[in-house]
Amino acid sequence: MPERPYHIEVMISAKAIAARIEALSKEIRRAYKDTDKLVVVGLLRGSFVFIADLVRELEMNVEVDFLEASSYGNATESSREVKILKDLRGPIEGRDVLVVEDIVDTGHTLSAVLKLLKSRNPRKLETIALLDKPARREVDLKATWTGFEIPDAFVVGYGIDFAQANRNLPYIGSVVFEDEAKGSEA
Ligand code: 5GP
Repeated sequence: MPERPYHIEVMISAKAIAARIEALSKEIRRAYKDTDKLVVVGLLRGSFVFIADLVRELEMNVEVDFLEASSYGNATESSREVKILKDLRGPIEGRDVLVVEDIVDTGHTLSAVLKLLKSRNPRKLETIALLDKPARREVDLKATWTGFEIPDAFVVGYGIDFAQANRNLPYIGSVVFEDEAKGSEA
């Protein structure tokens, strides 16, 4: 199938992301001030860059684990059924946990993941999402901490892909399809 041509427009610069992570890290450190060792649970794959920057800024004793839930595949529409494709390596019972998500969109993924993790009886369970698209929400849920609220656009970069490309962009960009861009000028 021929690729549909597109370009990417910068939405959130690398500098703005770094500044926001620094501010959020201070809040997180305060919230977990009694925690010996924080279990940071990254939701693969979109959160891997965010986690890398976040844990280094946190300056806390952390363990990092990963969980992969099914989402878009190679299409741009979210499927409603969430499957766990890769589970955590370690137990979280009685532990202080921070779940790191790239984007809260409809909310189905984070909601299903939280339900699963709560059933394992952590001592404390909070969430951080780099991006939040409140206009798309179908489940009543908000992450404890949010990096940026964004409009309903398809975004890439900073770990987030489009058909497995663009994860390595240092900024968050929105995908603009050339046919739609031309259409809006007419
Ligand atoms: P939700 O279950 O909240 O609808 O979807 C969350 C997941 O959908 C995110 O973790 C992310 O993988 C994917 N997602 C949501 N919005 C976007 C987007 O704009 N771009 C990309 N690449 N993935 C998205």
